[in-house]
Amino acid sequence: MTPQRRVILEELKKVTSHPTADEIYEMVRRRLPHISLGTVYRNLEILSQCGMIQKLEPGGTQKHFDGMAENHYHFRCLGCGCIEDVSLGLLHDLEASVPELDKYEIIGHRLELIGYCPDCKKGRKPS
Ligand SMILES: [Zn+2]
Ligand SMILES: [Zn+2]
Repeated sequence: MTPQRRVILEELKKVTSHPTADEIYEMVRRRLPHISLGTVYRNLEILSQCGMIQKLEPGGTQKHFDGMAENHYHFRCLGCGCIEDVSLGLLHDLEASVPELDKYEIIGHRLELIGYCPDCKKGRKPS
């Protein structure tokens, strides 16, 4: 664990906003003014490979990072792209409930709820 990597991890764990690499770079730069964007990217990849953070890759948008390593569920807004944690208990039975999955080695699952956040919902015209 390099000092730079530790700062990146600490900054990411402080927030629940699921920032992009660019946003994390801005946060880390306040403490490490000379760090490069490439270093931040590289360390985020390493941290997610180690399972210390989660890399979220919602379709078609930028990668987001999550300081909470344990599996949990997310809501993604189709309007502004924000990602928020959803307080829904883990569906441990999900994998066991489908017999056909026996032929695979399942190591987990991801679940993403999509729709419009309160702000975007307010701004939307009733259809
Ligand atoms: Zn929104
Ligand atoms: Zn999260």
